[in-house]
Amino acid sequence: MSTSLNTQALKSLDAQHHLHPFTNTRALNERGARVIESAQGVYLRDTDGNRILDGMSGLWCVAVGHGRTDIADAVAQQLKDLTFYNTFFNTTHPPVVELSQMLAELTPPQFKRFFYTGSGSESNDTIIRLVRYYWQLLGKPEKQVIIGRTNGYHGSTIAAASLGGFGAMQQQGMLPGVVHGPQPFWWANGGDMDPDTFGRHVARQTLELIDQLGTDKVAAMIAEPIQGAGGVIIPPSTYWPELAAGLKQRDILLISDEVICGFGRTGHWFGCELMGTQPDFMTLAKGITSGYVPMGAVAVSDRVASVLLELGDEFAHGFTYSGHPAACAAAIANLRILQNEKLVERVHDDIGPYLQSKWKALSDHPLVGEAVMEGLIGSFQFAADKAARTTFPEAAKIGLVARDFSFNNGLIMRAVGDRMVIAPPFSLTHAEADELMATVYKVLDLTYAHVRSLGLAK
Ligand SMILES: *Cc1c(COP(=O)(O)O)cnc(C)c1O
Repeated sequence: MSTSLNTQALKSLDAQHHLHPFTNTRALNERGARVIESAQGVYLRDTDGNRILDGMSGLWCVAVGHGRTDIADAVAQQLKDLTFYNTFFNTTHPPVVELSQMLAELTPPQFKRFFYTGSGSESNDTIIRLVRYYWQLLGKPEKQVIIGRTNGYHGSTIAAASLGGFGAMQQQGMLPGVVHGPQPFWWANGGDMDPDTFGRHVARQTLELIDQLGTDKVAAMIAEPIQGAGGVIIPPSTYWPELAAGLKQRDILLISDEVICGFGRTGHWFGCELMGTQPDFMTLAKGITSGYVPMGAVAVSDRVASVLLELGDEFAHGFTYSGHPAACAAAIANLRILQNEKLVERVHDDIGPYLQSKWKALSDHPLVGEAVMEGLIGSFQFAADKAARTTFPEAAKIGLVARDFSFNNGLIMRAVGDRMVIAPPFSLTHAEADELMATVYKVLDLTYAHVRSLGLAK
């Protein structure tokens, strides 16, 4: 009784005083926010006593699972030893040094230097400055344009949202000098081409766009190895080799936004390793601390760092919390868990393949157009007509309907339009994976009944 009163009070106060991100607050307040109270492993608990399988690792971030006391203890100890000190004025501190050394070992060999931020957005903002500074130092200040992609997601500061390809965010104002190319989304855009032909086609379209703009004007291209917030779009295997080689030929820097793919999500330490590219920058956040404490970082390649160090003066940029000691302590503890418990190997060799085989079989369901997964990041597409690859009318909001069925049946899946996405913690057991899949099938049956009741399927 007191719990339910408490929940009501929380919901009511939340409705009165809290503006939620990416939310229609009026609509939310009508139904009330669900209050998540605690979490352990892959399970969340709400204040109504429901247990919910967190198929999204929070927001793509809680890679090692919830409630790891070794990370909490490391953060608590660090706050006692050194609460805060900045890294601006000729000072450093042990955790930021130790983390930098760890990252130098874990990242691909071209990365030995790291700049710290508070988020993925701030990291991409930082990269824009570094890219422009790099070309200025090399006497090519006219190289300013950065290529993004339709449906790419790079964060929500003005600069990061400009790099991304989400129209609603861009309407709030755009940084000049960002141009968007096509995304390698075969199911929606591949037409009559087979996936491999389509992958090469999109890569070439992107390079043609760069040639039209002029390679003397284009500074860099930013892309996620696998598009995450855009709906987990896994590119055809032909896309990245063709694109990366073309960028190299044209002397365009490559920024691999690894905020989701980094730190093991794809079964490799970094998504660029899976795709076989050698980026000049990597954007890091989310999995770097498994979300225990906010943190972002920029991995700067030797190619860029050597120019900054040899030709540069002061790099006029930094955040109060660049390399915050407690965030560094969380990152170190998190990376140790990934290493000691061989969780990246587990995603690659064990739980990844186990869940993939079941997930990909979803494509046999009459509602599912395609079902894809790499490592532990996957999606399936609702299709009105599988063979013709057509979607349901947008107004039917099938994705949101399915998302609510899922939530109400104890599984967090996210909807991106009519695409359902998951990215569970790496600690997911086989039994938990079975439970996840059983709920997905239940959601499909409920959604199928709903679609038929609307007269949208036989
Ligand atoms: C989440 C995300 C970001 C933004 O990170 P924030 O910490 O929310 O600022 C950037 N890039 C990608 C690929 C992301 O998924």
